[in-house]
Amino acid sequence: MKITSVECYKGPFITVKMNTDEGISGFGEAGLSYGCCQTAAWGNCQDFAKLVIGMDPFDTERIYEHLHRHTFWGMNGGVTVSAAMAALDIACWDIKGKALGLPVYKLLGGKTRGAMRTYASQLQTGWKTLVTREDKAVLLYDPEDYYDAVKDAVADGYDAVKIDPCFAGLIPEDFATAYLHRGDNLKGVYPAALRNIAVERIAAAREAGGDKLDIIIEIHGTLDANTSVDLANALEPYRILYYEEPTMPSNPKVFNHIKNRINIPLATGERCYTRWGFRQFFEDRSIDIAQPDLCNTGGITEGKKIADMAYVYDIGVQFHSCGGPIATAAALQLEAVVPNFVMHEFHNGNFQSKFRKGGKYEWMPVNGQFHMCDRPGIGQEMSEEAMATYEKVVISDERASLGL
Ligand code: MG
Repeated sequence: MKITSVECYKGPFITVKMNTDEGISGFGEAGLSYGCCQTAAWGNCQDFAKLVIGMDPFDTERIYEHLHRHTFWGMNGGVTVSAAMAALDIACWDIKGKALGLPVYKLLGGKTRGAMRTYASQLQTGWKTLVTREDKAVLLYDPEDYYDAVKDAVADGYDAVKIDPCFAGLIPEDFATAYLHRGDNLKGVYPAALRNIAVERIAAAREAGGDKLDIIIEIHGTLDANTSVDLANALEPYRILYYEEPTMPSNPKVFNHIKNRINIPLATGERCYTRWGFRQFFEDRSIDIAQPDLCNTGGITEGKKIADMAYVYDIGVQFHSCGGPIATAAALQLEAVVPNFVMHEFHNGNFQSKFRKGGKYEWMPVNGQFHMCDRPGIGQEMSEEAMATYEKVVISDERASLGL
């Protein structure tokens, strides 16, 4: 089988559709639809697509090494590089599964569990309110709103939630101002008022969910080491399951510093890329949960290796999931297999129409759990209606032969 063309799409999600000479197509995604690197990721997908034309999509190890070693920037290349590698890798796995008539999890070693425990993520922007307010994100300030959001998630069957208690800052502001406000926290100290309201918000969440609820604290890397230690210790009485990205994950030694001063398990990984990006965290054993984003870290091929490395250090894996329907499906295929899987992240942004109408199949959690489907490949495709609204560039045999 040969790859004949790759359609590269830019829209709400950076998506590729890989076509082959046997008429089988596969979908992949580069995980940079949020933040500010969409065009770079789309362009990187186009650049790397030229290099895989004519290759066999079954040769995922060979394709990975080819892109890793023969592009100069493949080695230690950063997020747009490993996101483009991920998009192409996931599309290859989708094709493999479709060609063999098997879901990808079967090709990766088979399921190690039945249903997949799933948590309701990012409740500081509400739960389902993203749908009821015409797709516009909301930001919760009042602890009572956190109480209500957790009640909503629990009513939907979830027994675990994730909240960033600092995300909204102190007073109602728009998102842009909130970001500036949070930047002000990076001074080694932060206002007691912010710590106090963060604690009140989590106290409200604990009250709403009771003792059976697991609460993950998300910091989005916005605090410095000292303030994140202070907040973790203030939140300890609320029995926190783990503490995510307490500060920027660029320096593993700082995670050691935090780890030695708090009593809550640490997590990070959505801004770490490839095995090499996780190595120091694993060797230091400074994190307890690794959170690689498959669509930013090289895809299923690389994600499996990171998960296996983590296993050696007794570190659990929860793939970061904040992308489109293809990203979610790819994560589920691998999570079904890896024995050190913790739980699946279901982002509240997935209630938005760009996600729900983006996928060909409705594949959502039921009662706080995802159930694997047996569709061949990754089990999801982009809908034709959604793709028709995306910008599209096709990389094909003809372009490659012309050196374009
Ligand atoms: Mg996060």
